Amino acid sequence: MEMEASEVIALLKETEAFQSGHFLLSSGMHSSQYVQCALLLQHPAHAATVGSALAGRFRALRPQVVIGPAYGGMIIAHEVARALGGRALFAERVEGKFEVRRSFSIGSGERVLVVEDVVTTGAATREVKRLAERLGGVVAGIGAIVDRSAGPLGFDCPFEALASIEAPTFIPGMCELCRQGIPLVKPGSRPSPALVR
Ligand SMILES: [Zn+2]
Repeated sequence: MEMEASEVIALLKETEAFQSGHFLLSSGMHSSQYVQCALLLQHPAHAATVGSALAGRFRALRPQVVIGPAYGGMIIAHEVARALGGRALFAERVEGKFEVRRSFSIGSGERVLVVEDVVTTGAATREVKRLAERLGGVVAGIGAIVDRSAGPLGFDCPFEALASIEAPTFIPGMCELCRQGIPLVKPGSRPSPALVR
């Protein structure tokens, strides 16, 4: 099933995955907007819908294996793989570098799709792509639910995102939100509201 970008944005808003405030992105940049895809993906039916839509963009490239970086890319990689009928692997950081563990392997020449929830600088995605290649795979493409990159990603293979978001991002030290004294939130590490007393 295909999805328009506006439908994806509507789903992100409906699930409160699209947030406003002062956020420290995993890239190190600060931003007034954050997309917490986990809030969309917590609904398996939505995860399946989005996964199927993303899979549709790559079906013609016949990927056999889908790999996503933990944790953000795990669920969406799984749903894309389900829709494509392939395997779903995840890469995890070991002492700061992405590796595949769990006895996962990629066969020599296997066609790999790298899948992310959100692409910002693309650094993690590029690292997972190189990892998949080092393991013997041929990376057929890169997919994301949300593209919030501001510049060229230099992926060197087909890239598709279901929606693009242009949110202002700031280099730390040159951030307007810091200057206004708004507390900085690191979204991934923030306790869920129910845990805050
Ligand atoms: Zn800031």
